Amino acid sequence: MMDEADPTPLALHLVERIGREGPISVRDYMDACLNHPEHGYYRTRGAIGAKEDFVTAPEISQVFGELIGLWAGVVWQQMGAPARVRLVELGPGRGTLMRDALRAARKVPGFCDALEVSLVEQNATLQAVQRETLRDSEVSVQWYGNLSVIADDANGKATVVIANEFLDVIPVDQLQFTDDGWVQRAVTVVNTSQLAFTDRSGRSVPPPRTGIFTIGAIVEQRDLAPLTAVLRRLAEAGPLAGLFIDYGYEGAAAGSTLQAIRNQKFHDVFAQPGEADLTAHVDFATAASDFRAAELAVDGPCDQSTFLNTLGIAQRTSRLMASNPAAAGVLEAATARLISPTGMGTLFRAIGVRSSSLPPLPGL
Ligand code: SAH
Repeated sequence: MMDEADPTPLALHLVERIGREGPISVRDYMDACLNHPEHGYYRTRGAIGAKEDFVTAPEISQVFGELIGLWAGVVWQQMGAPARVRLVELGPGRGTLMRDALRAARKVPGFCDALEVSLVEQNATLQAVQRETLRDSEVSVQWYGNLSVIADDANGKATVVIANEFLDVIPVDQLQFTDDGWVQRAVTVVNTSQLAFTDRSGRSVPPPRTGIFTIGAIVEQRDLAPLTAVLRRLAEAGPLAGLFIDYGYEGAAAGSTLQAIRNQKFHDVFAQPGEADLTAHVDFATAASDFRAAELAVDGPCDQSTFLNTLGIAQRTSRLMASNPAAAGVLEAATARLISPTGMGTLFRAIGVRSSSLPPLPGL
């Protein structure tokens, strides 16, 4: 329930909007919470890090970004080591993954000379953090405020796309199976100022593509078309490989996975609109079929522990521990956290996309 005593500016705006327009879809609610130009969480907030709202894999261990940097180098070799290659990161957060990736990339002969980096980040606060993190980069770095423009200057270049925890912030619709068939879940106002779920009955919605459902079941649908269209254009311009890592599930519908996080704790999704991170798990089976529909080959998905183990996380960690014994305990614990079979190792998954002319991507 929203805290009546202290509604956020976005809550006030949404209550007014719903009063005017009627209930809004869950997707519009999520979109407003994350992307509202003035009050959206991903427009202004620092969000990520030990002292912020949530911690991500690259903030847990340098090994995460390093392995992805090596992965990108191997993929570049598989492309035939083209003279120019663009490394695109979607939603780079604090720039930590890219900093660690570029450090490791130096170990792949010739890779850094071919590299140019493009960061897609809509959040000015995080862009500034990324500039600071990558201040000493030997590789040129360009920023793009949104995804749609990234393919505009692809002109014949090879591209490697990486994205950690980017798919989960793309808004979802929620459909619920009722006695009357599938209805779209929506957000309304009750008791004059409280946001709450409702059915938007009367509006017909396309049912889920597969599955058998009981009354009350909730299914989430995420529109990946803007992303797949960009990937398609990149693949038409030159060889393309992409890596997406996120938390999610495969196949079976998971019910409502919408979650709000603030100060590293779960909150009611209506408690602090615009001031809490609001995400939903990724349906990797549907993502894979969306990628294939865009004529991309798909590798995986597999769980994060399989991906990182295949790339040699144990060996890399041992080497770091040997060269820095004082930090050995911390390094070991961080790696254990990334590959934990009861935590991030299985909650998170990795999926690869590529031009069909390329061989299967490493680790997937
Ligand atoms: N990859 C980072 C951060 C994940 S959080 C990490 O692992 O630490 C999601 C990131 O995506 C943030 O940087 C956020 O500002 C960015 N973002 C969210 N929506 C976006 C959008 N529509 N376009 C571009 N960037 C977006």
